[in-house]
Amino acid sequence: MQSTPTLPASLRTTMPYVDGAFVATAKRFANTSPIDGSRIAEVCEADAPLVDRAVRAARAALDGPWGALSPAERAQVLHRIADGIEARFEDFVAAEVADTGRLVEQARSLDVARGIANFRTFADLVKVGGGETFESRTPAGDLLNYTVRKPHGVIGIISPWNLPLLLLTWKVAPALACGNCVVVKPSEETPSSATLLAEVMHDAGLPPGVFNLLHGFGPGSAGEFLTRHPMVDAITFTGESRTGEAIMKVAAEGVREVSFELGGKNAAVVFADADFDAAVEGVLRSSFTNSGQVCLCSERVFVQRPIFERFVAALRQRTEALRIGYPDEPGVHMGSLISQSHRQKVLSYFALAVEEGATVVTGGRVPHFGDARDNGAFVLPTIWTGLPDDARCNVEEVFGPVCHIAPFDSDDEVVRRVNDSKYGLAAALWTTNLKRAHTVSRRLHVGIVWINTWFTRDLRTPFGGARLSGLGREGGRHSLDFYSEISNICIQL
Ligand code: NAD
Repeated sequence: MQSTPTLPASLRTTMPYVDGAFVATAKRFANTSPIDGSRIAEVCEADAPLVDRAVRAARAALDGPWGALSPAERAQVLHRIADGIEARFEDFVAAEVADTGRLVEQARSLDVARGIANFRTFADLVKVGGGETFESRTPAGDLLNYTVRKPHGVIGIISPWNLPLLLLTWKVAPALACGNCVVVKPSEETPSSATLLAEVMHDAGLPPGVFNLLHGFGPGSAGEFLTRHPMVDAITFTGESRTGEAIMKVAAEGVREVSFELGGKNAAVVFADADFDAAVEGVLRSSFTNSGQVCLCSERVFVQRPIFERFVAALRQRTEALRIGYPDEPGVHMGSLISQSHRQKVLSYFALAVEEGATVVTGGRVPHFGDARDNGAFVLPTIWTGLPDDARCNVEEVFGPVCHIAPFDSDDEVVRRVNDSKYGLAAALWTTNLKRAHTVSRRLHVGIVWINTWFTRDLRTPFGGARLSGLGREGGRHSLDFYSEISNICIQL
C-alpha cells in the first residue's frame, strides 16, 4: 500500500477522557494529514470547566483505591497497560503514522515499542524501592532516620508532537508507578495515540480519575488552563524552550515543581581518526531521522579539517540517495514534516541560510511528487556549509532535516565551539581514540554525549539538558525522584 494512512474508527471524533469517561465537547478543531493536507479527524477541545473537572477527578482519585495500592500492585497495573498497548499495536502504529506522516517502520520499532517499554521499565523499577537510613547518636539519645517515597499528588503532563506516544508515556508511566494521578495534554497536532492510550487505560480497569486526557492548544486553551490550575502539584513538560519559560512563570505561583525537556541545537563532531563510513552513516541518521524532528538531532556538524571535503561529499551522496514518500512505501527513508505551518518555519530557515551566505550542498527546497502529496508537508533533506558559527541558522533550532557542516582543527577549538550555544541537550562524537572520547565528552556542557553512536538509550540512565535545553533529569531513579515526594522519618530509639 502506498497511501495516506487512516485512523482507527474510534478516533474519527477524538475526545478528551475525564474521570473515567470520554467527553464530547462543542468546540472542535481539525486533525489534518501532513501527507496530503486532508482532514482525518475532528478533535474535541477541552474548555476551562472541563480542565477543572479533570484536575478535581485526579485529586479525588488519590484518596480512592489507587492511593491504597502498594508499589508492586501498581507495577502490575502498569504491565497490564503495556499488555493493552501490545494487543492494539497496529492501531497505535496507525495513529502515530496518520498524525505525523512518519514511517510505519519507525512507528513500529521506535514509537510504539518504546511506549510499551516505558510502562514495563517503570513497573520494574518502582518495585525495587530503596530509601536511605541513618543512625545517629545525639545528646538527646539515639535516632533512626529513614526515608519513604510518597506520590506528589496530581501531575500535569504536557507533551509535544515529534514523538507523541514515546514522550507522553515516558512521563505517564513513572508518574503512575509512583502513585500519582495524572492530567495529560498531548500536542494539538498529535491527539490520536494519547486517546488510544486512554482507551487502553479504561480497558485495563484503571480507576476513574487516575488518568485524564485533555485535548487543545497551549496559550488560552487546555495547556494553559492545566498549568494554571492551583490543584496541580507538579508539572512536567516537553517542548520548546520558550514554552518552558512561560510554564515556569506560571508554576512559580504555588511554588510547584517542574521538570522540563526542551529544545536543542546539538552538535555531531567527527574527528579525523573516526571510522569514516560509520561516522557518515551516524550523521545521516542523527541529522535526518524523523525528518530531523527529534530534539536530539544534530543540526551542527563539525568535521576535522583533513577529512572535511571527503566527508561533505560522502554525506551529500548518502543524503541524495534518501527516498522521501508515503510512510508505508517500500524503500522510503523519510516521511513528511508534522504540518504545513511547521514546513513554513523550516522553509523560512532554508531562505535565511541563503541570505546568510550558506552554500546549499543539497536540498533546500520542497520535493515535487505530481500527486496529492504536493498538498502535504514534505521538504528535502538539506546540508549547508560556509556559515559562521554565529549565523542564525547555526544558533537557532530549525527542527527539520537539516545540518550545517563546518571544519575544525583542534580538540580545544571544537569543545569551545560546541559549548558556544544557549542550548545544551546532546552531542555525538565520532572517534577511535579512547582518551579523546573520554576527555572531550567530559568537557561538553550537555546532558548526554554519545560516542560512536546516537539516540540509543538505556531507560535507567538520566536524561535531560543543560541551559535552555531543560531543567532536571528524568529516567530511571531520576524519574522516581521527580514523581515522588521523599519524606524523612526520624525515630527516637
Ligand atoms: P511546543 O512548546 O510548541 O508545544 C509543546 C506542548 O506544549 C503542546 O502540547 C502545546 O500545546 C503545549 N503548550 C504550548 N504553549 C503552552 C503554554 N503556554 N502553556 C501550556 N502548554 C503549552 O513544542 P512542539 O513544537 O510541540 O515540540 C517541538 C519542541 O520540543 C522542539 O523545541 C524540541 O526540541 C522539543 N523537544 C524536546 C525534547 C527533549 O527531550 N528535550 C523532546 C522532544 C521535543
